[in-house]
Amino acid sequence: MTGTLWLVATPIGNLGDISPRAQETLQRSALVCCEDTRRTGRLLQHLGIAAQALAVCNDHTEHRLSQRVVDELAAGNDVAVVSDAGTPGISDPGERLVRAAIDAGAVVSAIPGACAAISALITSGLPTERFVMEGFLPRKGQERTDRLTDIAAEHRTIVLYEAPHRIARTLADLTEVCGGDRQISISRELTKMHEETVRSTLSDLNIGEPRGEYVIVIAGRTREVEPLTEDSIRDALDAALQVGLSRRDAAAEVSRRLGIPRRQAYDLVIQTAPSNESDTQ
Ligand code: SAM
Repeated sequence: MTGTLWLVATPIGNLGDISPRAQETLQRSALVCCEDTRRTGRLLQHLGIAAQALAVCNDHTEHRLSQRVVDELAAGNDVAVVSDAGTPGISDPGERLVRAAIDAGAVVSAIPGACAAISALITSGLPTERFVMEGFLPRKGQERTDRLTDIAAEHRTIVLYEAPHRIARTLADLTEVCGGDRQISISRELTKMHEETVRSTLSDLNIGEPRGEYVIVIAGRTREVEPLTEDSIRDALDAALQVGLSRRDAAAEVSRRLGIPRRQAYDLVIQTAPSNESDTQ
């Protein structure tokens, strides 16, 4: 039996957001992997938890740490992964440890909790059914240009993270590629005393003096509705006839699907298709 790798969400500002299960897991784990031992140490102290061991997990150490984590799991011990704030693995380290644990046949499980992207998305008022998480934009160069181009063409709601000193540049770039009419919701200081969400179009947006960390949520590009032409109605009628519908049924089906008068569909179908027997049934 191997141990479990627990991905434990921690607060993004309000310490009341730590769950009882997160606390139990941090208490019980043989090793807590974190970005910054001082920061996580302060959280653990606040919670009254004496961790058995802490190890630094960041872009530089995650690869090396994987072996230690796999050894602990193989010995049947549980390991917890936390980031400085929020959900590990979301624009934060964790992904490599997860891969290593899976490859070693260990159980990987999440203790859900705060995630700035999800809080900002669900309070944005923008469609939540389909969305993409873009994390931080590349800082400059072709990579940034390409990503901005993808964002402008994206139909789903887009979620971005941004730091206060880059927010103005990023909003200007987004306005340039998406156009000023695009709806945006921008949240800062989520779960904290000065939490604020501003909803606007890109061109009307005014966030004042940048302060705190930001989540940007942008509406996806609206799909241009193709105008209905006689040709497109005929195509739809042909398709309905080809699956064996009578002219009358094909007209009824196309009228319902395209929202056009049944008479218009029937007039077109009798002009374009020879009569068939089932019309008279
Ligand atoms: N893993 C974290 C999560 O689950 O949200 C995100 C970590 S990422 C390194 C940090 C970014 O998350 C910040 O730059 C900001 O864009 C966003 N963020 C974190 N806490 C926030 C808060 N309280 N309010 C608004 N944005 C926040």
